[in-house]
Amino acid sequence: MMNCQQATLLLSQKMDRPLTLKERCSLRFHITMCDGCNRFGRQMQQLRDITHTYMQQDVEDASQEVPPHQKDSP
Ligand SMILES: [Zn+2]
Repeated sequence: MMNCQQATLLLSQKMDRPLTLKERCSLRFHITMCDGCNRFGRQMQQLRDITHTYMQQDVEDASQEVPPHQKDSP
């Protein structure tokens, strides 16, 4: 069974790359047993959701800065 250090490492790596089936299974197993890593995993997920939402809003704001009719005028 993996320790907390390995589990948190996988939880951060999960944001950057897809985990292998073996990694996901060991991680899930650890998280069901370990409250600390369970909480850490949820925080990482929330953080990612917030970042994702924020970046989407940013794109929408940027497109609203220049109204379409001004783009075509010389
Ligand atoms: Zn743990």
